[in-house]
Amino acid sequence: MSSDKTKSAPATPQAIRGTQDIFGPDAEAFAFVVETFERVRRLYRFRRAEMPVFEKTAVFSRSLGETTDVVSKEMYSFEDRSGESLTLRPEFTAGIARAYLTNGWQQHAPLKLATHGPLFRYERPQKGRYRQFHQIDAEILGAGEPQADVELLVMADQILKELGIAEGVTLQLNTLGDAPSREAWRAALIDYFRAVKGELSEDSQERLEKNPLRILDSKDPRDKVFTADAPKIDAFLSQEAQDFFGKVTAGLDAAGVAWTRAPTLVRGLDYYRHTAFEFVTDRLGAQGTVLGGGRYDGLIEALGGPHTPAVGWAAGIERLAMLVADYGQIVEERLQVVVAVEDDTALQYATRLIAALRRDGFVSEMVATGSPRKRFDKAVKMNADCLIAVGIQDGTAGMKIRSSPISELGERLQKFVETWGR
Ligand code: ATP
Ligand code: MG
Repeated sequence: MSSDKTKSAPATPQAIRGTQDIFGPDAEAFAFVVETFERVRRLYRFRRAEMPVFEKTAVFSRSLGETTDVVSKEMYSFEDRSGESLTLRPEFTAGIARAYLTNGWQQHAPLKLATHGPLFRYERPQKGRYRQFHQIDAEILGAGEPQADVELLVMADQILKELGIAEGVTLQLNTLGDAPSREAWRAALIDYFRAVKGELSEDSQERLEKNPLRILDSKDPRDKVFTADAPKIDAFLSQEAQDFFGKVTAGLDAAGVAWTRAPTLVRGLDYYRHTAFEFVTDRLGAQGTVLGGGRYDGLIEALGGPHTPAVGWAAGIERLAMLVADYGQIVEERLQVVVAVEDDTALQYATRLIAALRRDGFVSEMVATGSPRKRFDKAVKMNADCLIAVGIQDGTAGMKIRSSPISELGERLQKFVETWGR
């Protein structure tokens, strides 16, 4: 081997901007969010699905609409080695709709689906906003009734409550109406914003004629001046759309889910109809939306499928995990049993013991490295509920409970020790 000391060491590669390595309490909070989601979605009988992380670019450009920020500015698209344009998924819904069509999942309609995983958007990284982030996601496909919207919202509310972060989070609810209502509102918005076009942000000037609803969703202060007084959907809602919204709000009231009306709330994506909603907190600064969704009756048709009403939501795991950490919800798992191996010749015995303890459900650790004389002290410092010393007596390996609380755990351990190895 040559050792050329004059060569400088290669620079350590850095992580990609906007990505995170999550570890420690943050990683525990992240896992807690996913575990809670998994538990609650089972109560509501949502079925798990896994979709690929990348799709043909058209899956997103056709379903999200060319004028959305996600498609026009935020997608990670690239050509693969055969020259095909692929995109790392920026959201779940389009891929789920594609999977629904290509796999014939219509046979399961109405289909309640749950998934979670990473998503990719080329955004300006900041607190609560990353280029790779993660969502939990729930959708009901092939269901046109307002009860589907209610079921999804009640589930979202339960998840936030079980995460212990519901305090200070409000459900903001709006309706975008059916197609005729939305069309009439759109025309009124174009008239309204056209009058002040010169004062809007460049982006909004551009989207004015194509997609004026998006101006309501703008974060630019120049646009925000005008959004509060913009025409509201209520003036344009058809009787049918009003009835639909009335059933959603009545269902939420019946289930005990608090909501507030947010008449300028729209979703960033083109395919939404009727119900649109966000769960918002003021604890995360500008990135206060933790969960968002709505009804997207037009999406599956836009992908070339049959008319399929559907509704869904997605929530950012990082933002939820930040709230969980904020509220101090994460308590580290208690170490229940520590086994101190005081003699190396008893190592196999101790290995058998700790394997059995763990199979029996005890959270346990073994101390069997370093000087044998120091292992007992090391084990004491780990502050477990119970301490077992393993050593050699009269030539054979054995154990002794050195400390154990008078509690259910202590009794369980006592019982375990009495019966183990017999
Ligand atoms: P925002 O207005 O914050 O950009 P959005 O409307 O683009 O959100 P959705 O596409 O509805 O968000 O995604 C749902 C949720 O996913 C958001 O409420 C948020 O919690 C999370 N989310 C979206 N983009 C990011 C990101 N870049 N980094 C972290 N979380 C994100
Ligand atoms: Mg966004």
